[in-house]
Amino acid sequence: MTDTTDDAPAGGSNAADAAPAAGADGEAPRPRRRPALSPSRAGDFKQCPLLYRFRAIDRIPEPPTKAQVRGTLVHSVLERLFALPRGDRSPERAHALLAPTWEELSQESPEWSELFAEDETGPDGHAAGWLDGAGTLLDSYFELEDPNRLEPEACEVHVETELGSGVRLRGYVDRLDVAPTGEIRVVDYKTGAAPRAIGEAKALFQMKFYAVVLWRTRGVVPRQLKLMYLRDGQDLAYTPDEDELARFERTLEAIWSAIRTAGKTGDFRPSPSKLCNWCAHQSLCPEFGGTPPEYPGWPEPAGGEESALDRAD
Ligand code: SF4
Repeated sequence: MTDTTDDAPAGGSNAADAAPAAGADGEAPRPRRRPALSPSRAGDFKQCPLLYRFRAIDRIPEPPTKAQVRGTLVHSVLERLFALPRGDRSPERAHALLAPTWEELSQESPEWSELFAEDETGPDGHAAGWLDGAGTLLDSYFELEDPNRLEPEACEVHVETELGSGVRLRGYVDRLDVAPTGEIRVVDYKTGAAPRAIGEAKALFQMKFYAVVLWRTRGVVPRQLKLMYLRDGQDLAYTPDEDELARFERTLEAIWSAIRTAGKTGDFRPSPSKLCNWCAHQSLCPEFGGTPPEYPGWPEPAGGEESALDRAD
């Protein structure tokens, strides 16, 4: 297999990618994670190379929105719901999981609680109205399917593979259903605030990304890619085929190659679209009169990770 780090963009150290990282204070060296492409970052580059740069290379923090945080909460509750035995997965149990799950998430990320003004939180510190909104998304989920009829293989599954060309792909699948016949269904919950029409192409891109990873790791083309839109109570099922995934794989390789080419010089150009309305970096974007910070060089190892907030979008 070709090692993609062989011609890593300037600023990176090829040897360091492959070599173990030295541990602190005489600890055993830890193996470095290889640079990899995630569906969110690949989607960013496709949408706007400059957006990719801001997120993956400059790593400019983006304040989470209430909708993103609510999405993360709903994903966590659904994951916990599937940990309950079949028969116990009721709307009431899901609602009862909301407050303790939020408690845990806000302890892990205290800045999320700061999103809420004091008058939005009750005496227990919970943003009651906001939690109700998350409850509405859960109700919408139960209208789409009965979780007691399903036994997923896993929820929030980390998937990773390396393509023949050496491009490493990495991501998280919301839910993986595997039938006794071995047929795979990939399920993704969508809770985001953007209109569905705008997000749909992006969502299918993400699902095909997962389908390629699963195809390459398990040797089976997923039978179905299912998107569940909890805000409008609708779902979308898509059946990929092998030829299509092979073409998509070449698209991903081309994206990674374009990222590395841009990374050598820092030439990440803005590509304005309707999606700029959801971009947190307009003030730094030349299309909006801003100036990007000086190019810091290719990160080591190369950026491509996605966050929990990305996954909940
Ligand atoms: S505002 Fe639009 S063009 Fe500018 S970086 Fe964001 S997505 Fe790209």
